[in-house]
Amino acid sequence: MKLDLKMLGEEAKRKIRGAKNERDLDGLRVEFLGRKKGKITLFLKNIRNLPPEDKPRQGQLVNRLKKEIGERILERKEALKKGEPGEYIDITLPGKKPPLGRLHPITQTLEEIKRIFIGLGFCVVRGPEIETEYYNFEALNMPQYHPARDEQDSFYLEDGRLLRTQTSPVQIRIMEKTSPPIRIIAPGRCYRRDAIDASHFPMFHQVEGLAVDRDITFSHLKGSLTCFVYQMFGKGTKLRFRPSFFPFTEPSAEVDISCIICKGSGCNVCSQKGWLEILGAGMVDPEVFKKVNYDPEKYQGFAFGMGVERICMLKYGIDDIRLFFQNDLRFLRQF
Ligand SMILES: [Zn+2]
Repeated sequence: MKLDLKMLGEEAKRKIRGAKNERDLDGLRVEFLGRKKGKITLFLKNIRNLPPEDKPRQGQLVNRLKKEIGERILERKEALKKGEPGEYIDITLPGKKPPLGRLHPITQTLEEIKRIFIGLGFCVVRGPEIETEYYNFEALNMPQYHPARDEQDSFYLEDGRLLRTQTSPVQIRIMEKTSPPIRIIAPGRCYRRDAIDASHFPMFHQVEGLAVDRDITFSHLKGSLTCFVYQMFGKGTKLRFRPSFFPFTEPSAEVDISCIICKGSGCNVCSQKGWLEILGAGMVDPEVFKKVNYDPEKYQGFAFGMGVERICMLKYGIDDIRLFFQNDLRFLRQF
């Protein structure tokens, strides 16, 4: 009985909220509070059949509801006079679409890079972001006096470890645990003490690549990177390998692609050169192999490292790295 009364109350209130005009409300008054057959009135009449001890309590409940419904009907009438729309469900209206989130452009670029290299037979590995000097520098042929080890350039922890400045230490960790053949890419965050400007940020993402096997040559490196560039930037993109120096590769090269904006004829993005630098690469230095007990006479390998922010900026024509980290929806919604 108590439950029935509660449900009746809910029903009355719902109908009152949904009433669209005064006539609806007059109908509801008759339906619930009508002198003869009103649903609440019938409840009230029914009380005389209850056991004596229940009568006062039940009477109180029904009377309270009767008063409340009467008030609600008046309130709704007032609201309708003021032009407030009714609260009712129009099932013919199209549903509201919840706003969909999307992946950050850096994540999208990273996923694309991974997809391409997985297609080439590489597998994805990860390493720690807090590294020892040994893995971050020494094992990569960067001895104590190397300028990159300057404390000005790296974030050091009190215990002498540091936030990795590159993803290359993952190469060493993998080679220590595995014997060739190896084909890995290692994506992840890196940290350097760079002053923030349009092209520098103290935290950034790199993807490291490493292939080690017998008879690996520079041609394999060129072939793999060409395949990557074609898929990432389009098939007509040209590549250029410029001789360079990295402590852990010999020979080393910096890789440029023909400017994706001007196609090589020269524009502001490429500083009128027609070329854009996208990554560094080279053949693994025999000194690095010695650190992990690989026989450099037996095995060769190539390695490459690219900045994910840079790839993403070139691919989408973004001119300021800071945009990635400001969480401005106007920017993020474009991807
Ligand atoms: Zn250009």
